[in-house]
Amino acid sequence: MIAPVAAFDRMGEENAFAVLARATALASAGRDIINLGIGQPDFKTPQHVVEAAVKALRDGHHGYTYANGIVEVREAVCRRTRDMTGQEVSPDRVMITPGGKPAMYAAIMMLGEPGAEILYPDPGFPIYRSMIDFTGAKAIPVPLREDNDFAFSAEETLSLITDRTKLLILNSPSNPTGGVTPRAEIEKLVHGLAAWPDLAILSDEIYDVMTYDGEKHVSLLEFPDIRDRLIVLNGWSKTWAMTGWRLGWSIWPDGLYDGVRKLAVNSWSCVNAPAQWAGVAAIDGPQDQVHEMLAAFDRRRKLVAELANGLDNVTCRTPKGAFYAFPNIKATGWRSKPLAKALLEDAGVALIGGPDFGGYGEGYMRVSCASSDDSIRAAFERIGTFLADNR
Ligand code: PLP
Repeated sequence: MIAPVAAFDRMGEENAFAVLARATALASAGRDIINLGIGQPDFKTPQHVVEAAVKALRDGHHGYTYANGIVEVREAVCRRTRDMTGQEVSPDRVMITPGGKPAMYAAIMMLGEPGAEILYPDPGFPIYRSMIDFTGAKAIPVPLREDNDFAFSAEETLSLITDRTKLLILNSPSNPTGGVTPRAEIEKLVHGLAAWPDLAILSDEIYDVMTYDGEKHVSLLEFPDIRDRLIVLNGWSKTWAMTGWRLGWSIWPDGLYDGVRKLAVNSWSCVNAPAQWAGVAAIDGPQDQVHEMLAAFDRRRKLVAELANGLDNVTCRTPKGAFYAFPNIKATGWRSKPLAKALLEDAGVALIGGPDFGGYGEGYMRVSCASSDDSIRAAFERIGTFLADNR
Protein backbone atom coordinates (compact mmCIF):
# COMPACT_ATOMS: atom_id res chain seq x y z
CA MET A 1 0.00 0.00 0.00
CA ILE A 2 1.22 3.48 -0.75
CA ALA A 3 2.25 5.43 2.39
CA PRO A 4 3.63 8.84 3.33
CA VAL A 5 7.24 9.28 4.43
CA ALA A 6 8.13 8.18 7.96
CA ALA A 7 7.88 11.66 9.48
CA PHE A 8 4.10 11.40 9.15
CA ASP A 9 4.10 8.49 11.62
CA ARG A 10 5.45 10.93 14.21
CA MET A 11 2.69 13.46 13.61
CA GLY A 12 -0.05 13.38 16.24
CA GLU A 13 -3.68 14.46 16.22
CA GLU A 14 -6.12 16.56 18.14
CA ASN A 15 -8.35 14.04 19.84
CA ALA A 16 -11.04 16.69 20.39
CA PHE A 17 -11.92 16.28 16.69
CA ALA A 18 -12.29 12.49 17.10
CA VAL A 19 -14.49 13.00 20.17
CA LEU A 20 -16.59 15.52 18.25
CA ALA A 21 -16.99 13.04 15.37
CA ARG A 22 -18.01 10.24 17.74
CA ALA A 23 -20.40 12.50 19.69
CA THR A 24 -21.98 13.66 16.42
CA ALA A 25 -22.31 10.07 15.17
CA LEU A 26 -23.98 9.00 18.42
CA ALA A 27 -26.33 11.99 18.27
CA SER A 28 -27.22 11.22 14.63
CA ALA A 29 -28.04 7.68 15.70
CA GLY A 30 -30.62 9.13 18.08
CA ARG A 31 -28.62 9.27 21.34
CA ASP A 32 -29.00 12.30 23.59
CA ILE A 33 -25.44 13.64 23.84
CA ILE A 34 -24.24 16.65 25.82
CA ASN A 35 -21.01 17.93 24.34
CA LEU A 36 -18.63 19.56 26.81
CA GLY A 37 -15.71 18.36 24.72
CA ILE A 38 -15.30 20.83 21.93
CA GLY A 39 -13.12 23.92 22.24
CA GLN A 40 -15.27 26.41 20.45
CA PRO A 41 -17.71 29.07 21.63
CA ASP A 42 -21.38 28.07 21.50
CA PHE A 43 -22.10 31.57 20.16
CA LYS A 44 -22.56 32.51 16.52
CA THR A 45 -20.25 35.00 14.81
CA PRO A 46 -21.62 38.54 15.40
CA GLN A 47 -24.09 39.48 12.66
CA HIS A 48 -22.22 42.61 11.53
CA VAL A 49 -19.16 40.43 10.90
CA VAL A 50 -21.18 38.06 8.74
CA GLU A 51 -22.59 41.07 6.86
CA ALA A 52 -19.07 42.36 6.21
CA ALA A 53 -18.14 39.06 4.54
CA VAL A 54 -21.30 39.10 2.42
CA LYS A 55 -20.60 42.70 1.42
CA ALA A 56 -17.02 41.79 0.49
CA LEU A 57 -18.33 39.08 -1.82
CA ARG A 58 -20.92 41.45 -3.31
CA ASP A 59 -18.21 44.10 -3.79
CA GLY A 60 -16.16 41.67 -5.83
CA HIS A 61 -13.44 40.60 -3.40
CA HIS A 62 -13.08 37.25 -5.08
CA GLY A 63 -9.41 37.04 -5.95
CA TYR A 64 -6.11 36.22 -4.28
CA THR A 65 -4.87 38.71 -1.74
CA TYR A 66 -1.31 39.34 -0.59
CA ALA A 67 0.00 36.11 0.94
CA ASN A 68 0.38 37.88 4.29
CA GLY A 69 -3.16 39.33 4.17
CA ILE A 70 -4.90 42.51 3.02
CA VAL A 71 -3.39 45.71 4.41
CA GLU A 72 -6.71 46.65 6.04
CA VAL A 73 -6.84 43.56 8.22
CA ARG A 74 -3.17 43.78 9.18
CA GLU A 75 -3.68 47.41 10.17
CA ALA A 76 -6.75 46.42 12.20
CA VAL A 77 -4.60 43.87 14.04
CA CYS A 78 -2.09 46.61 14.83
CA ARG A 79 -4.85 48.85 16.23
CA ARG A 80 -6.14 46.05 18.42
CA THR A 81 -2.63 45.18 19.57
CA ARG A 82 -2.11 48.82 20.57
CA ASP A 83 -5.43 48.88 22.45
CA MET A 84 -4.81 45.59 24.24
CA THR A 85 -1.10 45.85 25.02
CA GLY A 86 -0.08 49.48 24.50
CA GLN A 87 2.52 48.25 21.98
CA GLU A 88 3.16 49.49 18.45
CA VAL A 89 3.51 46.78 15.84
CA SER A 90 4.13 47.29 12.13
CA PRO A 91 1.59 45.78 9.70
CA ASP A 92 4.67 44.44 7.90
CA ARG A 93 5.23 42.10 10.82
CA VAL A 94 1.64 40.81 10.91
CA MET A 95 0.81 37.59 9.11
CA ILE A 96 -2.78 36.53 8.37
CA THR A 97 -3.24 32.75 8.27
CA PRO A 98 -6.13 30.29 7.93
CA GLY A 99 -6.73 30.07 11.69
CA GLY A 100 -4.10 30.43 14.38
CA LYS A 101 -2.79 26.91 13.90
CA PRO A 102 -0.67 27.56 10.77
CA ALA A 103 1.38 30.08 12.79
CA MET A 104 2.39 27.38 15.26
CA TYR A 105 3.04 25.04 12.36
CA ALA A 106 5.26 27.65 10.71
CA ALA A 107 7.15 28.53 13.89
CA ILE A 108 7.83 24.91 14.80
CA MET A 109 8.80 23.99 11.22
CA MET A 110 11.21 26.92 11.05
CA LEU A 111 12.94 26.16 14.33
CA GLY A 112 12.63 22.41 14.79
CA GLU A 113 15.04 19.81 13.43
CA PRO A 114 16.81 16.71 14.75
CA GLY A 115 19.20 17.76 17.50
CA ALA A 116 17.11 20.77 18.51
CA GLU A 117 14.96 20.90 21.65
CA ILE A 118 11.62 22.67 21.90
CA LEU A 119 9.87 23.40 25.20
CA TYR A 120 6.09 23.18 25.20
CA PRO A 121 3.39 23.35 27.89
CA ASP A 122 2.10 20.06 29.30
CA PRO A 123 -0.85 19.86 29.63
CA GLY A 124 -1.13 22.00 26.53
CA PHE A 125 -2.65 22.31 23.08
CA PRO A 126 -1.76 18.94 21.46
CA ILE A 127 -0.61 20.36 18.13
CA TYR A 128 2.55 21.82 19.70
CA ARG A 129 3.80 18.36 20.59
CA SER A 130 2.61 16.82 17.35
CA MET A 131 4.47 19.34 15.20
CA ILE A 132 7.63 19.18 17.29
CA ASP A 133 7.70 15.40 16.84
CA PHE A 134 7.11 15.84 13.12
CA THR A 135 10.22 17.99 12.73
CA GLY A 136 12.38 15.43 14.56
CA ALA A 137 13.23 17.92 17.31
CA LYS A 138 13.14 16.72 20.91
CA ALA A 139 9.93 17.76 22.68
CA ILE A 140 10.59 18.84 26.28
CA PRO A 141 7.43 19.29 28.37
CA VAL A 142 7.13 22.27 30.68
CA PRO A 143 4.78 21.01 33.40
CA LEU A 144 1.82 23.22 34.27
CA ARG A 145 1.06 22.04 37.78
CA GLU A 146 -2.24 22.13 39.59
CA ASP A 147 -0.62 23.30 42.84
CA ASN A 148 0.70 26.29 40.86
CA ASP A 149 -2.81 26.99 39.54
CA PHE A 150 -1.70 25.59 36.15
CA ALA A 151 0.49 28.66 35.55
CA PHE A 152 4.00 28.56 34.10
CA SER A 153 6.69 28.53 36.78
CA ALA A 154 9.52 30.80 35.60
CA GLU A 155 12.05 28.86 37.65
CA GLU A 156 11.04 25.45 36.33
CA THR A 157 10.77 26.69 32.73
CA LEU A 158 14.22 28.30 32.84
CA SER A 159 15.71 25.17 34.41
CA LEU A 160 14.74 23.17 31.30
CA ILE A 161 16.55 25.39 28.78
CA THR A 162 19.83 24.12 27.34
CA ASP A 163 22.01 25.40 24.54
CA ARG A 164 20.11 23.04 22.24
CA THR A 165 16.74 24.70 23.01
CA LYS A 166 15.56 26.57 19.94
CA LEU A 167 11.99 27.49 20.86
CA LEU A 168 9.95 28.00 24.02
CA ILE A 169 6.16 27.79 23.59
CA LEU A 170 4.02 29.67 26.10
CA ASN A 171 0.24 29.77 26.33
CA SER A 172 -1.69 31.89 28.79
CA PRO A 173 -4.66 31.81 29.30
CA SER A 174 -4.24 28.11 28.78
CA ASN A 175 -6.04 25.43 26.88
CA PRO A 176 -6.82 22.93 28.50
CA THR A 177 -6.47 24.12 32.10
CA GLY A 178 -7.84 27.68 32.11
CA GLY A 179 -4.65 28.67 33.96
CA VAL A 180 -3.36 32.24 33.69
CA THR A 181 0.30 33.00 34.33
CA PRO A 182 0.63 36.05 36.59
CA ARG A 183 2.61 39.13 35.55
CA ALA A 184 5.30 38.64 38.20
CA GLU A 185 6.05 35.16 36.91
CA ILE A 186 6.23 36.34 33.28
CA GLU A 187 8.56 39.16 34.29
CA LYS A 188 10.80 36.68 36.06
CA LEU A 189 10.76 34.40 33.03
CA VAL A 190 11.61 37.20 30.59
CA HIS A 191 14.40 38.35 32.91
CA GLY A 192 15.86 34.83 32.87
CA LEU A 193 15.55 34.59 29.08
CA ALA A 194 18.16 37.34 28.74
CA ALA A 195 20.74 34.59 29.36
CA TRP A 196 19.51 32.74 26.24
CA PRO A 197 19.55 35.32 23.41
CA ASP A 198 19.30 32.71 20.64
CA LEU A 199 16.13 31.13 21.96
CA ALA A 200 12.91 32.03 20.11
CA ILE A 201 9.62 32.35 21.98
CA LEU A 202 6.17 31.52 20.63
CA SER A 203 3.49 33.07 22.82
CA ASP A 204 0.05 31.68 22.01
CA GLU A 205 -2.31 34.44 23.14
CA ILE A 206 -5.46 33.26 21.40
CA TYR A 207 -7.48 33.48 24.65
CA ASP A 208 -6.19 36.94 25.56
CA VAL A 209 -9.58 38.57 26.26
CA MET A 210 -10.78 35.63 28.33
CA THR A 211 -9.64 36.35 31.87
CA TYR A 212 -11.80 36.62 34.98
CA ASP A 213 -11.76 37.78 38.60
CA GLY A 214 -9.78 40.88 37.67
CA GLU A 215 -6.95 38.67 36.35
CA LYS A 216 -5.25 40.50 33.46
CA HIS A 217 -3.68 38.92 30.41
CA VAL A 218 -0.03 39.86 29.99
CA SER A 219 1.20 39.90 26.40
CA LEU A 220 4.83 39.00 25.81
CA LEU A 221 4.84 41.98 23.42
CA GLU A 222 5.13 44.18 26.50
CA PHE A 223 8.79 43.16 26.87
CA PRO A 224 10.95 44.98 24.29
CA ASP A 225 14.07 42.97 25.20
CA ILE A 226 12.69 39.82 23.57
CA ARG A 227 10.89 41.45 20.63
CA ASP A 228 13.52 40.39 18.10
CA ARG A 229 12.85 36.70 18.83
CA LEU A 230 9.19 36.73 19.75
CA ILE A 231 6.29 35.27 17.77
CA VAL A 232 2.81 36.07 19.04
CA LEU A 233 -0.08 33.90 17.86
CA ASN A 234 -3.65 35.14 18.04
CA GLY A 235 -6.81 35.05 15.96
CA TRP A 236 -10.50 35.43 15.51
CA SER A 237 -11.62 31.85 16.26
CA LYS A 238 -12.35 32.21 19.96
CA THR A 239 -12.95 35.92 20.61
CA TRP A 240 -15.46 36.41 17.81
CA ALA A 241 -16.72 32.82 17.62
CA MET A 242 -15.20 32.28 14.17
CA THR A 243 -13.60 28.82 14.38
CA GLY A 244 -15.06 27.70 11.05
CA TRP A 245 -13.96 30.79 9.14
CA ARG A 246 -10.29 29.85 9.50
CA LEU A 247 -8.80 33.22 10.26
CA GLY A 248 -5.84 33.93 12.50
CA TRP A 249 -3.03 36.41 12.91
CA SER A 250 0.48 36.31 14.21
CA ILE A 251 3.21 38.85 14.81
CA TRP A 252 6.74 37.89 13.78
CA PRO A 253 10.28 39.11 14.32
CA ASP A 254 12.30 40.31 11.30
CA GLY A 255 14.32 37.13 11.02
CA LEU A 256 11.34 34.79 10.67
CA TYR A 257 8.71 36.84 8.83
CA ASP A 258 9.87 35.97 5.35
CA GLY A 259 9.87 32.28 6.23
CA VAL A 260 6.21 32.25 7.20
CA ARG A 261 5.27 34.37 4.20
CA LYS A 262 7.06 31.88 1.93
CA LEU A 263 5.30 29.00 3.62
CA ALA A 264 1.98 30.70 2.80
CA VAL A 265 2.97 31.17 -0.84
CA ASN A 266 3.93 27.49 -1.02
CA SER A 267 0.77 26.15 0.61
CA TRP A 268 -2.43 28.11 1.23
CA SER A 269 -1.51 31.22 -0.90
CA CYS A 270 -3.68 33.51 1.23
CA VAL A 271 -6.73 33.40 3.46
CA ASN A 272 -10.00 33.71 1.53
CA ALA A 273 -10.68 37.37 0.88
CA PRO A 274 -14.20 37.76 2.38
CA ALA A 275 -13.02 36.23 5.67
CA GLN A 276 -10.28 38.85 5.87
CA TRP A 277 -12.82 41.66 5.41
CA ALA A 278 -14.94 40.03 8.11
CA GLY A 279 -11.84 40.11 10.31
CA VAL A 280 -11.62 43.89 9.91
CA ALA A 281 -15.27 44.28 10.94
CA ALA A 282 -14.77 42.00 13.93
CA ILE A 283 -11.91 44.10 15.29
CA ASP A 284 -13.30 47.54 14.45
CA GLY A 285 -17.02 46.95 15.01
CA PRO A 286 -19.13 46.78 18.18
CA GLN A 287 -17.85 44.37 20.83
CA ASP A 288 -21.21 43.80 22.58
CA GLN A 289 -21.33 40.13 21.74
CA VAL A 290 -17.78 39.57 22.90
CA HIS A 291 -18.76 41.03 26.28
CA GLU A 292 -21.94 38.99 26.38
CA MET A 293 -19.97 35.82 25.64
CA LEU A 294 -17.36 36.62 28.27
CA ALA A 295 -20.10 37.18 30.86
CA ALA A 296 -21.56 33.77 29.98
CA PHE A 297 -18.15 32.04 30.19
CA ASP A 298 -17.45 33.76 33.51
CA ARG A 299 -20.72 32.49 34.97
CA ARG A 300 -20.30 29.01 33.55
CA ARG A 301 -16.69 28.45 34.66
CA LYS A 302 -17.88 29.06 38.24
CA LEU A 303 -20.83 26.76 37.68
CA VAL A 304 -18.59 23.99 36.29
CA ALA A 305 -16.15 24.31 39.21
CA GLU A 306 -19.01 24.25 41.72
CA LEU A 307 -20.66 21.20 40.14
CA ALA A 308 -17.35 19.35 39.73
CA ASN A 309 -16.43 20.02 43.35
CA GLY A 310 -19.85 18.64 44.31
CA LEU A 311 -18.96 15.21 42.85
CA ASP A 312 -17.52 12.56 45.16
CA ASN A 313 -13.73 12.30 44.85
CA VAL A 314 -13.45 15.12 42.30
CA THR A 315 -11.86 18.51 42.94
CA CYS A 316 -11.70 21.46 40.57
CA ARG A 317 -9.94 24.80 40.64
CA THR A 318 -12.03 27.65 39.35
CA PRO A 319 -10.33 28.51 36.05
CA LYS A 320 -9.02 32.05 35.73
CA GLY A 321 -9.04 32.23 31.95
CA ALA A 322 -10.11 30.76 28.59
CA PHE A 323 -13.30 28.65 28.73
CA TYR A 324 -12.08 25.36 30.11
CA ALA A 325 -12.03 23.75 33.54
CA PHE A 326 -9.65 20.92 34.39
CA PRO A 327 -11.08 18.88 37.27
CA ASN A 328 -8.89 16.39 39.12
CA ILE A 329 -10.42 12.89 39.08
CA LYS A 330 -7.48 10.99 40.61
CA ALA A 331 -9.42 9.98 43.75
CA THR A 332 -12.23 8.37 41.72
CA GLY A 333 -9.94 5.46 40.82
CA TRP A 334 -10.58 6.07 37.11
CA ARG A 335 -7.93 6.93 34.60
CA SER A 336 -8.81 9.87 32.39
CA LYS A 337 -9.17 8.32 28.94
CA PRO A 338 -11.23 5.27 29.94
CA LEU A 339 -13.46 7.62 31.92
CA ALA A 340 -13.90 9.95 28.94
CA LYS A 341 -14.81 7.00 26.73
CA ALA A 342 -17.25 5.53 29.26
CA LEU A 343 -18.90 8.89 29.91
CA LEU A 344 -19.49 9.38 26.20
CA GLU A 345 -20.65 5.86 25.39
CA ASP A 346 -22.64 5.11 28.57
CA ALA A 347 -23.69 8.50 29.97
CA GLY A 348 -23.86 10.55 26.77
CA VAL A 349 -21.44 13.25 27.97
CA ALA A 350 -18.48 14.26 25.82
CA LEU A 351 -15.39 15.47 27.71
CA ILE A 352 -11.72 15.17 26.79
CA GLY A 353 -9.32 13.10 28.88
CA GLY A 354 -6.38 15.10 30.26
CA PRO A 355 -3.70 12.88 28.61
CA ASP A 356 -4.86 14.12 25.20
CA PHE A 357 -3.04 17.30 26.24
CA GLY A 358 0.15 15.59 27.45
CA GLY A 359 1.42 13.18 30.07
CA TYR A 360 0.92 15.62 32.94
CA GLY A 361 -2.79 15.62 32.09
CA GLU A 362 -3.35 12.10 33.47
CA GLY A 363 -5.86 12.24 36.31
CA TYR A 364 -7.70 15.25 34.88
CA MET A 365 -10.55 15.85 32.44
CA ARG A 366 -11.02 18.90 30.23
CA VAL A 367 -14.49 20.37 30.49
CA SER A 368 -15.46 23.05 28.00
CA CYS A 369 -17.65 25.77 29.50
CA ALA A 370 -18.86 26.73 26.01
CA SER A 371 -22.25 25.14 26.46
CA SER A 372 -25.49 26.40 28.01
CA ASP A 373 -25.88 26.51 31.80
CA ASP A 374 -28.69 23.96 31.53
CA SER A 375 -26.65 21.49 29.53
CA ILE A 376 -23.74 21.90 31.97
CA ARG A 377 -26.10 21.11 34.87
CA ALA A 378 -27.57 18.12 33.04
CA ALA A 379 -24.09 16.84 32.12
CA PHE A 380 -22.92 16.94 35.74
CA GLU A 381 -26.04 15.12 36.89
CA ARG A 382 -25.20 12.36 34.46
CA ILE A 383 -21.53 12.32 35.47
CA GLY A 384 -22.51 12.14 39.16
CA THR A 385 -24.85 9.20 38.53
CA PHE A 386 -22.28 7.45 36.37
CA LEU A 387 -19.51 7.80 38.96
CA ALA A 388 -21.80 6.64 41.77
CA ASP A 389 -22.79 3.54 39.77
CA ASN A 390 -19.25 2.74 38.59
CA ARG A 391 -16.93 3.08 41.55
N1 PLP B 1 -4.00 27.84 20.27
C1 PLP B 1 -4.75 27.32 21.25
C2 PLP B 1 -4.23 27.34 22.63
C3 PLP B 1 -6.01 26.77 20.96
O1 PLP B 1 -6.75 26.28 21.95
C4 PLP B 1 -6.46 26.76 19.63
C5 PLP B 1 -7.75 26.15 19.27
O2 PLP B 1 -8.34 25.39 19.98
C6 PLP B 1 -5.64 27.29 18.64
C7 PLP B 1 -4.43 27.84 18.99
C8 PLP B 1 -5.99 27.25 17.18
O3 PLP B 1 -6.99 28.06 16.83
P1 PLP B 1 -7.51 28.17 15.32
O4 PLP B 1 -8.83 27.47 15.29
O5 PLP B 1 -7.62 29.64 15.08
O6 PLP B 1 -6.52 27.53 14.42
